[in-house]
Amino acid sequence: MPTIVLGAGAVGTATAWYLRQSGHDVVLIDRQADAGMETSWGNGGVIHASEVEPWSQPGMPMKILRWLGQENAPMLLRYSAIPHILRWGIDFARNCAPEQFRENAKANLRLALHSLRCLEEIGAETGIAYDRATRGVLKIYRSREALDNAERSSEFLARFGLLFERVTIERCVDMEPALKDTKSTLAGALYFARDEVGDSNKFAQGLAAACATRGVRCRFGETVRQVEVSGDQVRAIVTDRERIQAETVVVSLGSFTAPMLAQNGIRVPIYPVKGVSITFARDAWNSAPNVPVIDDSKLFGIVAIGERMRVSGSAEIAGYDATPALSRAKAIIDNAVFTFPEMRRHFDLSRSRVWAGLRPVSPSGTPIIGETRIRGLWINAGHGHLGWTLSCGSGQVVADLINGRNPDISMPSQGVVIRRVA
Ligand SMILES: Cc1cc2nc3c(=O)[nH]c(=O)nc-3n(C[C@H](O)[C@H](O)[C@H](O)COP(=O)(O)OP(=O)(O)OC[C@H]3O[C@@H](n4cnc5c(N)ncnc54)[C@H](O)[C@@H]3O)c2cc1C
Repeated sequence: MPTIVLGAGAVGTATAWYLRQSGHDVVLIDRQADAGMETSWGNGGVIHASEVEPWSQPGMPMKILRWLGQENAPMLLRYSAIPHILRWGIDFARNCAPEQFRENAKANLRLALHSLRCLEEIGAETGIAYDRATRGVLKIYRSREALDNAERSSEFLARFGLLFERVTIERCVDMEPALKDTKSTLAGALYFARDEVGDSNKFAQGLAAACATRGVRCRFGETVRQVEVSGDQVRAIVTDRERIQAETVVVSLGSFTAPMLAQNGIRVPIYPVKGVSITFARDAWNSAPNVPVIDDSKLFGIVAIGERMRVSGSAEIAGYDATPALSRAKAIIDNAVFTFPEMRRHFDLSRSRVWAGLRPVSPSGTPIIGETRIRGLWINAGHGHLGWTLSCGSGQVVADLINGRNPDISMPSQGVVIRRVA
């Protein structure tokens, strides 16, 4: 009987790859015409061990409440979403306790570093072209206090493998000359040499093609309606085309994992947090940043992905609608133009792709990887703002668990891998 992976985003595709590598007969199903077409399409593009800190962090609940209803807030909770996230919100708030937050960050870091190794291995084996660039990431700060705090957090994570360096304002501009115009506003930066950039959509599609070459049956344009269970064992999945029997099913439907499994009475604590990106041709913007820059105070990232520039940011808790709000896109563009004034001369909204995606966020900010109380029914989802970063490692971990092997990484205390979901 086949092992079925539901969802061919970055996470599901990597899951299919590792299951196939370990000898499974794999079927990979997605409702879109190809892999990586939903949240894995237009994300920030950064493979960043440097961003492993969950959004559920000390002080965050109060900030979200203060920002309620403010259209330009960095994290906007819409009133209409509140009734749907009460339990998730309480769990989120619990995870904001300092000790819990640190544990969750450590767990993400461990998986991120493992994932980098997996990405490297897959890249070497398949040769997928995905506009990879290994120039590190420069995270810029505008206040001494914010920079000092960030340095302290990074020092803590450095004990567990994070590589970083604090850089002066002069060095910032040397590393990325496009920052020269706003030099006077900077307090300095942290540089993360091991972070890299790549197009996760291209990667997912390349990996799906490599899976298919190795025998994975990719079924695109097929919508999964239901997972069929009898007793405590998964039996089949039902799509808009047919019923397929299976005794092992991995659900990697990103934000849609929760509503899918709610039909089976399984509560998966994942809620969508919408983000926005704007992608445009680099064209004549010769002085555009080459080094990926994350602006801590303006809360956006800008990266060169091949011949394109991508600016991303925004976090909006507003349900499952992935339509990008123009107001949020404009706020990101304004912030980018503030930091890189020359962008104004080269940017044309009408020639840009404005996109939104739903980050599948768990209350702990760590992914949910493990078997549910239904035998053979597994979850690999909930990677939040880190899904591209964590995808390959998560795929490898869930395949190991399904194969009854201890995953290659030492297991964190809780959070990243859970054996019973509900
Ligand atoms: C603006 C923004 C910036 C981001 N920046 C970064 C970044 O720089 N680095 C990083 O690591 N992460 C980043 N992320 C997060 C990252 O994009 C996500 O965590 C990741 O894409 C999630 O992958 P996934 O495979 O779990 O979900 P998805 O990519 O959403 O895949 C789920 C798949 O399931 C399919 N599906 C859903 N329902 C059904 C159904 N009923 N039947 C069949 N198929 C179905 C969908 O078509 C989809 O392909 C960002 C996200 C956003 C929104």
